[in-house]
Amino acid sequence: MKNETRQQQENPADKYPKPPFPKKPQDVPGTESAMDPKADHGEQTYKGKARLTGKVAVITGGDSGIGKAVAIAFAREGADVLISYLDDIEDRDAEDTAKYVEEAGRKAVLVKGDISSERHCQKIIETAVKEFGKIDILVNNAAYQMSRETLQDIPAWEWEKTFAVNIHSMFYLCKAAEPHMPPGSSIINTTSVNAYEPNPTLLPYAATKAAIQNFTANLSQILLQQDKGIRVNAVAPGPIWTPLIPSTIPDHEHFGENTPFERPGQPAEVAPAYVFLASDEANYISGATLPVTGGRITI
Ligand code: NAD
Ligand code: MG
Repeated sequence: MKNETRQQQENPADKYPKPPFPKKPQDVPGTESAMDPKADHGEQTYKGKARLTGKVAVITGGDSGIGKAVAIAFAREGADVLISYLDDIEDRDAEDTAKYVEEAGRKAVLVKGDISSERHCQKIIETAVKEFGKIDILVNNAAYQMSRETLQDIPAWEWEKTFAVNIHSMFYLCKAAEPHMPPGSSIINTTSVNAYEPNPTLLPYAATKAAIQNFTANLSQILLQQDKGIRVNAVAPGPIWTPLIPSTIPDHEHFGENTPFERPGQPAEVAPAYVFLASDEANYISGATLPVTGGRITI
């Protein structure tokens, strides 16, 4: 072999830690620093190929987990990023994500607050337009869930809150953003393997994820029929190691064992799906859902 550099071959099942993990429950919404083992957001590995040069992205839940890996990947592909997140306790996570965006030579703007309020969603979009002048990519990624054993264990406020955070916010954000999205833009919504195979301990959450699938397909039709040139797609992750898990799943020691890989995915393994859907390479893809499930089947 001359100057050829060969990529190291590795079984993807063996690439990251497998359960059991230590039992380390957190309060909602959870933080990166309290996670054990630490998650991989592609900090050391993601290499950009100028696939989003000059684009502007808004990412809800961009402080941690999947949203953080997406923010890092987008910035390394050449995009400026607005990161929306919920809570004071996540300030450090959000600032760390912003640091990686800035190290990639891009601008990061942080907006904290609750996206279940339409007014707050409008503020996120107004801030992006004020700072960047347009929005090319809207990633609706933030979500709430809580494990409950029985129907009687689910308070009505939690049912309503889950829908408000997970799906009402998508309507508010898409509606506010659309007038500022030029042709060639794209919306990417985070759904879940729960849209196909609902986990009995996540009744409201799984129902919102099924709603997100339908919303994605239908909004795609609406925007393309109107010739807006805005594509709308979804990503359906399987079990991914993020602060959502130790803060809402009591049995997180065994999280991800129920995949053919026998381990959860890492945020870094999900982010490339968002890059692809946001890029011009996905020019002819709209109304689709891309599963990233470690081999869990979604047909
Ligand atoms: P995460 O905790 O890192 O991210 C979720 C983010 O949502 C939080 O950082 C928080 O800031 C934000 N958020 C929550 N409630 C909010 C509110 N009311 N207002 C504003 N922001 C709010 O966890 P994650 O796993 O990376 O979650 C990202 C997405 O991935 C979610 O849509 C989740 O449903 C989805 N998902 C996760 C998994 C998994 O196993 N982790 C599997 C399938 C789908
Ligand atoms: Mg967070």
